[in-house]
Amino acid sequence: MPVKLILSKDLLRRKNDLSCYKSLSIDESGTYIRQAFDKYDFFIAAGGDGTVRSVAKQLVGTDKILGVLPMGSGNGFAREFGFRPVIPFLLSDIKRAGYIPTDVIELNDHTCLNVAGVGLDSFVAHSFDKSRTRGFWLYAWMTLKNFAGLKPFRVAIQIGSDELIEEKIFDLIIANTRQFGYNAFIAPEAKPNDGVIDIVILKPFPKFLAPFIIWRLFRGTLNKSKYVKYLKSEEPFTIRTDEKRFHIDGEPFTIEGRVNVSIRRNALSVLRTKRNKI
Ligand SMILES: [Mg+2]
Repeated sequence: MPVKLILSKDLLRRKNDLSCYKSLSIDESGTYIRQAFDKYDFFIAAGGDGTVRSVAKQLVGTDKILGVLPMGSGNGFAREFGFRPVIPFLLSDIKRAGYIPTDVIELNDHTCLNVAGVGLDSFVAHSFDKSRTRGFWLYAWMTLKNFAGLKPFRVAIQIGSDELIEEKIFDLIIANTRQFGYNAFIAPEAKPNDGVIDIVILKPFPKFLAPFIIWRLFRGTLNKSKYVKYLKSEEPFTIRTDEKRFHIDGEPFTIEGRVNVSIRRNALSVLRTKRNKI
C-alpha cells in the first residue's frame, strides 16, 4: 500500500516525537490509548470508520484531539473532516493544532460519530460483515441484493412530547455528519457541531425509482425527495421497532427493544484540517 511507503519516509525523520501502535483488538487499542494519555495530545486513527470509532470512543469527554489517516474503503468521517491519506498533510495539520469541538450521538450505550440507523443500509452492513473482502463494488452489489428483497417495516419515533411518528419505512437514518462514506450524502443537512441530530426517514418508494434516489444520494439532494421525511432534534428521542439489525458508523449491531438516542454536544475534539468542510 502506498501509504506504507510514505509512512516510512516521512515518519522516520520524526520518530522521536511519535509513537505508533498497531492494535490487534478494540479492547487492546482502548487500553493503549488510555495509557498514552499523559504523553500525547493527538491520537491518529489509521484505518477506516470502524477504527476511527474505536479510537474516538476513548477520546470522548477528554481534551485529547482525534486525527485520521484514512485507510478504509468508505472513510465517511475522514471525508467530512477533510483528512487525506497523506502524511505531510496530517503533520502540518497537527502543527497548526486547531481543532473542532464535535458532537457525538449515543444510541443506548453506543457512540456514533457519523451515521447510524435501521433499514436498507443496516441490512447491508449485516450482510457485508459476513463477507471477507471489502470495497465499493462489493458494497454496491450487497446493496442491490438487499434492496431487491427489501420490504417496508414499521418504526415508531417519539421526540419529546411531540406527536408519535409511526410509519412503515425502508430506512431510518440518525445522522451526525452528512455521509457514511463514498460521498453518499444520506443526510445532506447534517452538521457535526450544531447540537442537532438529523433524522432521515426513507419511505417506501416504487423500486424502479431507485436510480433517481441514488442520483439524489450522491448529489446531496435526498432531503428534496418526496419519499424522504427530514427531521431534526436537539432533545433525546426514542425509537421502537421489531427490526433488530441496526448499524452504527457502518458496523452491524443487534439492538433489541427501545433505542434511546441522544446527543453529547462538543464532546469530541477533532483536528482541524486545511481541507476541512465543516
Ligand atoms: Mg448535528
